[in-house]
Amino acid sequence: MKSIVAFVLAVLCAGVANAQLKAPTEPVMDRFLRYVKIDTQSQEDQTTTPSTRKQLNLANLLAKELTALGAQNVRVSEFGIVYATVPGNLADNSKVPVIGFIAHMDTSPAVSGENVNAIIHKNYQGGDITLPKDPTQVITVAKNPVLKELIGDDIITADGTTLLGSDDKSGCAEIMTMIDILRQNPQIKHGTLAIAFTPDEEVGTGIEKFDVKGFGAKFAYTVDGEELGEISDETWSARTATVTFQGKSTHPGTAKGIMVNAMYAIGDYLNRFPHDILPETTADRVGFVHPYAGVIDVESSNLKILLRDFDVSGLDAKEKLLRDMVAQTVAKFPEVKISIDVKENYKNMKEVLKNYPELTNNAMEAARRAGLKPFLKPIRGGTDGSNLTFQGLPTPNLFTGGGNFHGKLEYNSRRGLEKSTETLVHLVQIFAEKS
Ligand SMILES: [Zn+2]
Repeated sequence: MKSIVAFVLAVLCAGVANAQLKAPTEPVMDRFLRYVKIDTQSQEDQTTTPSTRKQLNLANLLAKELTALGAQNVRVSEFGIVYATVPGNLADNSKVPVIGFIAHMDTSPAVSGENVNAIIHKNYQGGDITLPKDPTQVITVAKNPVLKELIGDDIITADGTTLLGSDDKSGCAEIMTMIDILRQNPQIKHGTLAIAFTPDEEVGTGIEKFDVKGFGAKFAYTVDGEELGEISDETWSARTATVTFQGKSTHPGTAKGIMVNAMYAIGDYLNRFPHDILPETTADRVGFVHPYAGVIDVESSNLKILLRDFDVSGLDAKEKLLRDMVAQTVAKFPEVKISIDVKENYKNMKEVLKNYPELTNNAMEAARRAGLKPFLKPIRGGTDGSNLTFQGLPTPNLFTGGGNFHGKLEYNSRRGLEKSTETLVHLVQIFAEKS
């Protein structure tokens, strides 16, 4: 209760004059704890969207709750995407761009999300956190220096047997609570908001079914990041290379002068990868090449390689390196036919977002009004936002307060959820003020 009062005061101090703000009908923490109980694990290599039917359980619940919160045009698409509109409350809503807020409902295929038993570590006083059902699962201060900022907070984890699902039920709960607060407090002025909750983000396929036009937003934010204050308007640019090594197989008893064993060529090629541009040796803004799968066989071998860089020129250089390595292996194994095929996967959304600096600036301002220190962090991966950005909907990514995604050590906290929600409330006000 105390934290709700603090929350309301914080909103009050930050700009809405002469108004006693009402708390949401339900604290964001309670909402979050309800959502994590629903198993929404997605699955790789499925032909349907959503990849697992159980994601619809959360989709249908969110649709019901959106309707109860007064959202309009609430619908669940045939692909399990929840869409809704929150009407603006300005004299002329057409003067403010429609802003979208998007979170994903599914959890990672890497770790079970079934029977999540959320543990609340009340009034955390520092030190490592051992998860009760598996003492080998320990959130250590050494590996999670952010824990020092959570002293006095209520930390939420799973019990050590599952992931928590903070990624991205935090985003779902925060967006829903923002809508709740706006409904309770009509004196907070905002334009029209477009809301979406998506399936299958973790397997990369849900966003392909997203109806950008029907969504109706001019800009959007995914609420799917980590540490409080972390805002991302940059992702990798990504390509995948397939190198094929064609040899000639024959019965080994009569192979003399006939057999060409492609396996030696693939071994030679693998040996040429420079050690300083691999995922295991790079961090921050440094890109990599990553051989991650392949087939090894006398007749035909192949290798699949990820190429990642924040700059297209850096990505081009990595592609050239892989092609030069092919030429070197060809010189050594002239009888093996070697070919390389490179495909583009996604591009750094900064290429588009640099033309819309107000999206990042407004988010930074909103975080500051919530009492946070915002910072920009490029994402060493792709987001649904990078896909949407190149479909014509510029979409940076905002923090949720959580961390250690995709694993049993995943966490968020009461303050993390509340401050992220508060930032969203400020953000819609800022767009209204500035238009
Ligand atoms: Zn996520």
